[in-house]
Amino acid sequence: MIGIALVSSISYAAGRAALRGGATHAGRTRMIQSVASAPVSSVLAAEPATHPGFELVKVEMVDEYTIKCATYRHIKSGAELISAQADDDNKVFGIVFRTPVTDSTGVPHILEHSVLCGSDKYTSKEPFAELLKGSLQTFLNAFTYPDRTCYPVASQNTKDFYNLVNVYLDAVLHPRAKRDSTVLEQEGWHYELEDLKDPLTYKGVVFNEMKGVYSSPDSLLYRAAQQATFPDNTYAVDSGGDPNAITTLSFKQFTDFHDAYYHPANSRIFFYGDDDPAVRLALLRRDPAAQAHPVACGGALPRRTRGGRGGDAHGDGQLAHARGAARRR
Ligand SMILES: [Zn+2]
Repeated sequence: MIGIALVSSISYAAGRAALRGGATHAGRTRMIQSVASAPVSSVLAAEPATHPGFELVKVEMVDEYTIKCATYRHIKSGAELISAQADDDNKVFGIVFRTPVTDSTGVPHILEHSVLCGSDKYTSKEPFAELLKGSLQTFLNAFTYPDRTCYPVASQNTKDFYNLVNVYLDAVLHPRAKRDSTVLEQEGWHYELEDLKDPLTYKGVVFNEMKGVYSSPDSLLYRAAQQATFPDNTYAVDSGGDPNAITTLSFKQFTDFHDAYYHPANSRIFFYGDDDPAVRLALLRRDPAAQAHPVACGGALPRRTRGGRGGDAHGDGQLAHARGAARRR
C-alpha cells in the first residue's frame, strides 16, 4: 500500500458543482449549506477496502459522478483494478484486455465470441445465452474494438451480480475454446458440405456476421477511411475479421492470441455500485490466473509494414463488434 489521498469530501464536491452551476451568490450559499448538511451516504463514507494481495495506489472523489474511486494493483499478477463506490444499486463489472492485431483474421472478435462458449467452472456450452435468459442481469455483452476487447456485466441484485462476475472471469481466463477446436470452428469458420453434389462452402458465426458487415456501404466507407488514415498500425487492419482472411485463421494462432493477451496483467478491471468493495477484491483474488506472475503484455501498438498484406483491403469499419448485436442477426 502506498498511501491514501482523498481529494475531497462528498459535501465539498457537491458544493463545487453548485458553484459551477451559475447560481447567484446568495443562492449558491444556500445550496452549499443545504448540501453540506445533507447526510453522506454510507457507501461513499466507507473507507476503501484493503487486502494483502492488493496494493492501494490512490483514492479519489470524482465530483461529476459522486463516486469514490480506489485504484489497486494486484501484487502477484500486476492486474490493475478500479473500484468505484457509488450510492447506486446498478452494480457494474468489466474486464478489458488490450488486444491489438496485425492482420484481418478477426482473431480478437472470434475469441470474444468463443470465450463465452463454456469454461472450466461453467461447462454449459452457451453460458452467455443462459445468463441472458436466466439471470437478473441489466446488462450483459462483449465488444471487440480495433485495439481492445471488453466484457461488461451489470445487475441490481448483489448475489446475481457476483454470479455474473464469476462466470465472466472464468470465461475470459479459462475458456473451453482453448482446448476444444470445435469452438473455433463454430464461432470462427469451418467447411460445410450439405450434399456431395454441392460445392464446399465456408460457414461460422463470425464469418457470417462479417459477411453481413462487409455488405454495408457505410461500413466499407468507414473502414477504408480508417485504413487510409492509419496505414502503419493496428487500425489499418480489421479486428472484426475480413471474410477473406478469417478462413486462414488456425487453431494455433487462435490459442496463441489468448495466451498473449488474456492475462490479468494485460487487463483493466472495474467495479461500480453500492456492493461491498472487499468482496470485489476477494473475487479476483480467488482466481488461479490471478496467482500467476506478471507477464510482459504492454508496449506500443505493433507497427505494420506497408504493402505487407495485399489481401487486407479493409480496416475495422465499426466502432465495435458487439456480441449481443451479432446474436440477433
Ligand atoms: Zn460478433
